[in-house]
This record gives sequence, structure tokens and C-alpha cells, in this order.
Amino acid sequence: MIPFLDLRRQHAALRTELMAAAERVLDGSQFVLGAEGRALEAELAQVCGARHAVGVGSGTDALRLALTALGVGRGDEVLTPAFSFVASATTIVMAGATPVFVDVEPDTLTMDPDALTRALTPRTKVVMPVHLYGHPAAIDRIAAFAQARGLAVLEDNAQAVGATWQGRPLGGWGDAACLSFYPTKNLGACGDAGMLVTTRDDVAERVRRLRHHGDTGRYHHVELGYCSRLDELQAALLRVKLRRLTEWEERRRWIAARYREGLGGLPLRLPVERSGARHVYHLFTVRHPQRDALAKRLADTGVGTAVHYPLPVPGQPLFAADGEKRWPEAHRAAREVLSLPCYPEMSDAEVEGVIDAVRRACEDLG
Ligand SMILES: *Cc1c(COP(=O)(O)O)cnc(C)c1O
Repeated sequence: MIPFLDLRRQHAALRTELMAAAERVLDGSQFVLGAEGRALEAELAQVCGARHAVGVGSGTDALRLALTALGVGRGDEVLTPAFSFVASATTIVMAGATPVFVDVEPDTLTMDPDALTRALTPRTKVVMPVHLYGHPAAIDRIAAFAQARGLAVLEDNAQAVGATWQGRPLGGWGDAACLSFYPTKNLGACGDAGMLVTTRDDVAERVRRLRHHGDTGRYHHVELGYCSRLDELQAALLRVKLRRLTEWEERRRWIAARYREGLGGLPLRLPVERSGARHVYHLFTVRHPQRDALAKRLADTGVGTAVHYPLPVPGQPLFAADGEKRWPEAHRAAREVLSLPCYPEMSDAEVEGVIDAVRRACEDLG
């Protein structure tokens, strides 16, 4: 049996350090907005090449609060890819605005910069690319497009912390970016947590206020805020894990390289790593015309897989704005994608086991 993901291995390996970090927080008993959170913010601002970082309750909240801080509200439109995790679009609705879906590039499945002009209207305020699966979106082209039109860029960097494009870290290209520490992400908390990173002083200041009841200090509430802080326990645990992030991502990249060699010559479309990109393989997602049959055969031989994602975002019942003609690449991706196990704690034998199982399953499918 090779599970799609097994977080127990990560926590068993770090148990002593994680317990010490948790005890440090219990001993100090400052649980919200304290030194651990501030230290984590400084460390991640540096990872992303941004000036500020603001810890919040989830990646979803980071996006929602960032949109508000960027001035997005009723009547505004935000450009978002038609293929992503649903929060890339629901957060736009939460901020009171309307998501406008843009199709994705067939090779990286990230926002197609050539499709932006068509989606633009006088109401467009922000462009929100997603660095899907750990690979950069065409962020240089998207940022140039936005800058030329006076639009802000909000990077959804939930899946790609540590990745770079042209040597520059993701999360530092746009006006602001979100990070998610959902437990299965490359840097995962032991619960929900997220962060907003930005080089803009005004955005950092506004999100600091929004996450804490609109408070400017000492119970002075100047606007409607929320209750969304990254707590000290999660911050302390995340700081232990952050020390491993580079090493873990190197291991993910090694597994991906091994998959690439071992899975060549099959009727599978393998993920690309564009020249200029450092992919961090949050997911190693292949494509196959008979995706469901392939997943079933792998499950029968004990290899866990997952589908990220089975529907294009506008095709979710929530949006019910389905249109194969409008977002053909997103639709094709939703039918074909299959994520293979790819996490640092996999053994070399498990990596070879996945390769053998996928080769056999592809041969069986003909
Ligand atoms: C995980 C994720 C989010 C949301 O993050 P949470 O911490 O789960 O709220 C947003 N966008 C993408 C692309 C994600 O993968």
C-alpha cells in the first residue's frame, strides 16, 4: 500500500521538536498575536521576498482580506483562473465582488495571459493568478498586463511557497499574495492557518486591522473587521517545519525527476517545468484520457491517487456558470488530471513502486 499522502510520517519524524515548541507556547501562555507569530511573519516575508507578512486564520481569509485591503468591493470584477481550488473564486464573492473566469494554459494549467484582454471590462480591479500545483503562473506577463492597466495583482500562492520564477520568489511579484498552511500544503500547520504577504505598507496595515476586529489598538474599532489570527501554537509548530522546507522541496523535486524518467514513453501527459521556473511539486499531476480507469487500476494495486480538481471552478454547482466553449482547457483538465503520491517522506522504494504500478496500469489500458 502506498498512500496518496501520509502526514503521520512527518509528525513522527519531528515529534520531539514539535512538542518542545508546543510546550514553549503553553509555558508562556500568550496564545494570540505574540512573538511566535511575529517571528513566523518575518521569516516568511523573507522567503517570499516581500516586506510584510500578516498571519491570518487560513489561506482563504488571506485572499478575502487582501481583496478588501486592495479596495475590492461591490460592483468590481476580479480575474481568476477557471481551473483551481474553489477558494480562488469564492473569496472574490466574499469580498462582495464578481469573479470573471479566465481559461488556463494547456501545459501548466495556470491563468492564460493571452486570455486576459478578452475578460477585461471597465469594472476589472484585480488579477488573481494561481501558482497551481507548485508551478509559477506566467506572473511576469500577468503583472505587466495589470500594471499597464492600473490593476492590482493578488497571487494565490497557497500551493507554491518556496517556488521561484526567473530566480525571484513567488509571492513577491504582485501587490500581495496569500499563503495557506492547510495541513496538506507543502508547509502545513496542525490545523488551519494562513498568511498574507505584501510589499505595500497600506495593504499590510489594513489586513492587520481587518484580522482583528478592525481595531487600531486598545479597543478602537474603525471599521468592520473579522476574527482571523494565526495563533501562537500554530506559528510555533510552523517555525519548526519551516526549517525543513527547502530540504523537503528538494526531495519533492527529486521524486518528480524520478517520475519523469520512469514514466516516459507512456500515453501520459507529465507536468511541465518551464525554463525559468523552480517548481515545488505540491502536487505531481499527470493527465490521461481515461483518468478514472487509471485511478481505479492504481487503487486496485494499492496506490493512492487524487483528482485536483474534478470540475472547472465555473462548473461547480455553486457558480453554475458552466461553459465548455468558454473555458475549453479547464474542462479538458478536469476530465484528465490525476495526482500521484508526491511527498518528502515517501521512501525510494515507494517511488519505484508508483512508477511500476503506473506503467502496468497504462499498459493494461492499452
Ligand atoms: C488551499 C488553497 C486555498 C485556501 O487555503 P486554506 O488555508 O485551505 O483556506 C486557496 N487557494 C488554493 C489554490 C489552495 O490550494
